Amino acid sequence: MFESLSDRLGGVFDRLTKQGALSEDDVRTAMREVRVALLEADVSLPVVRDFVKKVTAKATGAAVTKSITPGQQVIKIVHDELKAMLAGEEGIPPLKIDNPPAPILMVGLQGSGKTTTTGKLAKRLKERDGKRVLMASLDVNRPAAMEQLKILGTQIGVDTLPIVMGQKPVDIAKRAKQQAALGGYDIYLLDTAGRLQIDQVLMDEVQQVHAAVNPRETLLVVDGLTGQVAVEVAEEFDAKVGVTGVVLTRMDGDGRGGAALSMRAVTGKPIRYVGLGEKMDALETFEPDRIAGRILG
Ligand code: GDP
Repeated sequence: MFESLSDRLGGVFDRLTKQGALSEDDVRTAMREVRVALLEADVSLPVVRDFVKKVTAKATGAAVTKSITPGQQVIKIVHDELKAMLAGEEGIPPLKIDNPPAPILMVGLQGSGKTTTTGKLAKRLKERDGKRVLMASLDVNRPAAMEQLKILGTQIGVDTLPIVMGQKPVDIAKRAKQQAALGGYDIYLLDTAGRLQIDQVLMDEVQQVHAAVNPRETLLVVDGLTGQVAVEVAEEFDAKVGVTGVVLTRMDGDGRGGAALSMRAVTGKPIRYVGLGEKMDALETFEPDRIAGRILG
């Protein structure tokens, strides 16, 4: 694995015995390590540059207190700035799930973990928020995906819209809306079809569904291990349907979580949840503090 940034910076500052304020030279040396560590964590280059600029401005001339070493001082500045960037200026707003039945559209590429995340989110809304939730799969090209959602529903005790073969996604979405209203559900989750790559057919389909139900939230599910690809996918979906939040899956994997920083910095969309495994309870709210710690190593 990678050498942690904390260790790298510790090493840099062990060689310096200066006290008082951090000099420009100290900061420049430290920022070289920060740059390498962020690139290794798969943060995109423009974001790394911007980040280093901000941290340099804060660190240069910062007084070093007696109780901590210059290395610790820089690590704290880097950590705080990572946290601030991950949270965004306005922080992470609560999900818009009032005014029942509230539609939530789940979008993303095939294999990103969309169906699994739909189940995890439904379970969470049911158990933590006490909501009555309905789920519907719109993946008409893959009957197995529809079946997968149904099985998950049974497993977590959440209703799924009965499968009717031969319906178009937009018609299934309308049926879900009607069923949610009639059945007294608080929320209905629409698990849209994914493709291996973004294509026009997929985007047209998602746009039609979006127009039909006017979702309160459009959550993009992306594989957190795909780094910069995840950011490109987010930008495309956002341009077409307007993403309101992001779920990063596979954050239980080996990656350092750099995708989170690029995602927030480039798209400006709040990261709401992280997927931490295949099980139905492996979904947690996004904690900037924790991801900042992970990127720092
Ligand atoms: P979809 O095609 O986007 O609907 O993807 P699926 O929900 O079918 O997920 C694809 C695979 O990824 C499945 O084997 C899931 O169990 C797995 N998966 C989904 N989310 C996570 C996660 O957060 N961590 C891990 N390790 N695996 C996940």
